[in-house]
Amino acid sequence: HSPSNCPLDKDQLGQHTWGFLHTVAAYYPDKPSSDQQKDMSTFFTLLSKFYPCEVCATDLAEQLKVRPPATSSQSSLSQWLCWLHNGVNEKLGKPLFDCTKVNERWRDGWSDGSCDY
Ligand code: FAD
Repeated sequence: HSPSNCPLDKDQLGQHTWGFLHTVAAYYPDKPSSDQQKDMSTFFTLLSKFYPCEVCATDLAEQLKVRPPATSSQSSLSQWLCWLHNGVNEKLGKPLFDCTKVNERWRDGWSDGSCDY
């Protein structure tokens, strides 16, 4: 990889974007208002229009049709995003992530304390 003050390549952009998206989902309300639910759906639609990796954006738009964002709660959104990410992992031949661990990975830290400092 190039130095950190250079433009992002596809993988770097992907890592940062997933980090951002999973963290947004981790802190999404347990009981979102209907406006928040609508806005979150719009957010993913807009992401699929502006994500600066063409194959990724096209794929995302397709996936949003297959299974629209589950915006009814923090848990449902985080699980939906885990499903979305696993679809990309599968396509790229990467290991699938265990979605029961999504809050440990992105919000609470691992139960062995390895993220506590
Ligand atoms: P990443 O896949 O970037 O994952 C980062 C971290 O997230 C992992 O280390 C792991 O701890 C965690 N994680 C992994 N899976 C999950 C999950 N299911 N749920 C929660 N956490 C998880 N690249 C392409 O080449 N082609 C594409 O079509 C493509 N489409 C993309 C679409 C989107 C919307 C995004 C955001 C990225 C896309 N990418 C695509 C980039 C690709 O997904 C990876 O980001 C990139 O290949 C770097 O992978 P990585 O192995 O570093 O880990």
